Amino acid sequence: MKSIKQSIRGCSDYLPEYMRIWRFLETKIINVLNSYCYNEIQFPIIENTELFQRTIGVSTDILLKEMYSFKDKKNNSITLRPEGTIGCVRTIIENKLNSITENRLWYVGPMFRYERPQKGRYRQFNQLGIEVFGISEPEIELELLMIFSRLLHDLKLSNSVYLEINSIGSKRARRLYIKDLVIFLKKYEKKLDIDSKKRIYTNPLRILDTKNKAIQSLLKEAPVILDYLDEKSKFHFEKLCLLMNKVNVKYKINTRLVRGLDYYNDTVFEWKTNSLGSQNTVCGGGRYDTLFQQIGGKSTSAVGCAVGIERLILLIRKESMILKEAASFIDIYLFFLKKEIYFIVLKLAENIRTVFPTLKIKIDFLVSNISNKLRKANRCNTTVALILGEKEVLTKTVLVKNLKNNMQMIVSKKELIKYLKKIFF
Ligand code: ATP
Ligand code: MG
Repeated sequence: MKSIKQSIRGCSDYLPEYMRIWRFLETKIINVLNSYCYNEIQFPIIENTELFQRTIGVSTDILLKEMYSFKDKKNNSITLRPEGTIGCVRTIIENKLNSITENRLWYVGPMFRYERPQKGRYRQFNQLGIEVFGISEPEIELELLMIFSRLLHDLKLSNSVYLEINSIGSKRARRLYIKDLVIFLKKYEKKLDIDSKKRIYTNPLRILDTKNKAIQSLLKEAPVILDYLDEKSKFHFEKLCLLMNKVNVKYKINTRLVRGLDYYNDTVFEWKTNSLGSQNTVCGGGRYDTLFQQIGGKSTSAVGCAVGIERLILLIRKESMILKEAASFIDIYLFFLKKEIYFIVLKLAENIRTVFPTLKIKIDFLVSNISNKLRKANRCNTTVALILGEKEVLTKTVLVKNLKNNMQMIVSKKELIKYLKKIFF
């Protein structure tokens, strides 16, 4: 039996040092999304299995082997969401969300896929999803790309991540393309690996996505999907490229880029990095104009993308100068030198919190000598230590020690707030 002290394989514990980076990142993300008028939405982590069965695609990895599905007590088949777009669209349809005022949405939360766990690939992981519905023009793809590009800039990751983009056209174009692709692949069937051989008959588009170098080079000769686009798709893609050129969003067209879910059409894109080994996609997305109808809603254009939070944090930890901004610190550390002084210190801390609600203030409950305390404060990356002993209580003063410049002052309690204001604001 596995130890009950261990978490389930592929499910991580997120410790405080990690969560600090996460919240720091999340604040940056929310600020950017707010500035583009995107609104937060939430929906359940579990949905009816059928919802995913009808939309993800019968021969996708997710549906074939990755879903966590189980029967509830009434024998209904329930699934832990493997991705967010489908649940989000279900929510929009069910709640009749207004496609003019509430058409730009975001959410963040856990997703579940039964995958082979490795660095950057987990069974429970978190995605930030951004979805826009009701807009068919490529300007909206551009907006999504600019949002992520701005976020990368704010995270000082612009040089670590690049954008690849493609168009997979309409369903009809894909059908024609797949026919020719299969003819091509069959010619080289012997040279394919076992997975790709199987995929010729189940999901040939996914072979384009192979990590196998030999097959990749073979695919250089394969037909290219862009040659199969109808006029409408071609126009849409060309316009998007033009728009990106205009505002200087840098991209590479990757004609072999396809997504792992079946609901996409026309534009697909991925933001990739060379720093995370084979788990190299930090954000993936595209247009999905038929999903609303598939779920029973009325035909609605839509575009979205999902950012892998864990992969973004791996990247921040490895590459970004921003990491030190997320370090742990204490603004004001309060110490008392005799047990009886505790309540005076407590009251003082509460007063300071009322005046400066954004400062991080901590009280040390253990009584020991000053030098021990200051060592402790320094270890916690403290800016100011406030120390109260008997003498300070009698004279209604506080010993203020600025640990950043090593200045020490006795300040009257009346003047303390003014004094702290000078240090922090
Ligand atoms: P991959 O090709 O890496 O498996 P995907 O195409 O399956 O990715 P999407 O379904 O597009 O991924 O999900 C969007 C993003 O979510 C990915 O780009 C990635 O950053 C993240 N992601 C997907 N699966 C996992 C996972 N198992 N563990 C951690 N992050 C993941
Ligand atoms: Mg995957």
